[in-house]
Amino acid sequence: MLLYNSATRKREEFIPREEGKVTMYTCGPTVYHFAHIGNLRTYTMEDVLERYLGYIGNKVTRVMNITDVGHLSSDGDTGEDKMLKGAKREHKTVLEIAKFYTDAFFADCDKLHIKRPEFIEPATNCIPEFIAMIETLLAKGYAYEAGGNIYFDTSKLERYYIFNDFKEEDLEVGVRESVEADHNKKNKADFVLWFTKSKFDDQELKWESPWGLGYPGWHIECSCIASKFVGEYLDIHCGGIDNAFPHHTNEIAQSEATFGHEWCKYWFHVHHLNTNSGKMSKSKGEFLTVSLLEEKGYDPLVYRFFCMQSHYRKNLVFSWENLDNAKIAYNKLVGRVAELKANDGEIDEAAFAEGKKRFTDALDNDLNTSLAVTALYDVFKLRTNDRTKLALIESFETVLDLGLIAAAARLNEEKAKQAAEENAGVDPELLAYIQERIEARKAAKKAKNFAEADAIRDELLAKGITLLDTREGTKFTINEA
Ligand SMILES: [Zn+2]
Repeated sequence: MLLYNSATRKREEFIPREEGKVTMYTCGPTVYHFAHIGNLRTYTMEDVLERYLGYIGNKVTRVMNITDVGHLSSDGDTGEDKMLKGAKREHKTVLEIAKFYTDAFFADCDKLHIKRPEFIEPATNCIPEFIAMIETLLAKGYAYEAGGNIYFDTSKLERYYIFNDFKEEDLEVGVRESVEADHNKKNKADFVLWFTKSKFDDQELKWESPWGLGYPGWHIECSCIASKFVGEYLDIHCGGIDNAFPHHTNEIAQSEATFGHEWCKYWFHVHHLNTNSGKMSKSKGEFLTVSLLEEKGYDPLVYRFFCMQSHYRKNLVFSWENLDNAKIAYNKLVGRVAELKANDGEIDEAAFAEGKKRFTDALDNDLNTSLAVTALYDVFKLRTNDRTKLALIESFETVLDLGLIAAAARLNEEKAKQAAEENAGVDPELLAYIQERIEARKAAKKAKNFAEADAIRDELLAKGITLLDTREGTKFTINEA
């Protein structure tokens, strides 16, 4: 599989350290508010990546953190504490806020069919691990104490600015932002590993440490939590492009300084979801959440489908109009799946392989989900039976998980229920005969045997039964004798 690696800025063959096993890390949410659908686009694409790595035969071990402490309103250690801000806003404790928004995040993930990573770890569970890593960094000379805080000394590394050449507008924290000067820092890019009570006296959560009562900086948690579950090497690290700098840059700095070797080979960054007025954020414009989509009558899986239709490395523009188009296309797709008959012969292996190859070719090419969706449409065009088509769709759905099979089953149930209501009162024997004739006519039409189809229609008409072709299928009326 070819994947674009942000660390080398090239598309590369993805080769895990150990054949058939992938260690994957995802930066999790800071649980002080609902996730907006822009963040959820990132988790959706990461989910597809994890599933696809599994689909092509890997055992994927995926780890995600939950940030419930230490993330300040600027990713570069300045401003208010996000968790504290959430607690104040809602007159709750930090732990109550963390619990509430962690649950809300996973409820959103469930609705979007985003699988939960194998290991999910809140930062507050790992304080001893953070302290141990910071002690190592101090002992190796990569960190220093100043003004009561412990800082990482970025001047000690040659490779610090690894992600720093992203376009400025892609970064949440860049030079353009007016950053409060922290006079304790030796270098402008240095970042906090541990805060003590000298900063934020109203911080609720504090722990004893060798440097006094305090709490961890944000960046340290990802390095520690990744190594806690998968050791010193990561195959692939994922996140939103806005986390590339400084967050991921800082993760690399800490991890490589601690372990003394390259830490993670592949970096997968999902680009922004924009609105027509620019990048989506919590503070700007309409706050778009999964609940809001539902309130407006959208199935969250329509949003998943919308995300699949574009490449993860392109900014995606969200508008209600675009989502409406996705909804129409999604419903049509469900309708087509609903028409496939599961009991129509055996799986045609050659056609199955042909359909599957189009799908894997798309995703092997830097996870091109929009071409994978095209491959899904191509299934209907294959010259093969419905059984094979359904088997292909089921197979693709283990990666795309758009809920197509379940939605098609619901649609068929509704149709059957409606037909039963319409046909109530018709003699069952007569009904069975009419339905059999309707199916025969449909088969004749499909075989382009129009004379046969017309003959069936006339045969029924002679018995006082009029057929009516509608968008929902062929219906009939029985003329009063
Ligand atoms: Zn992270």
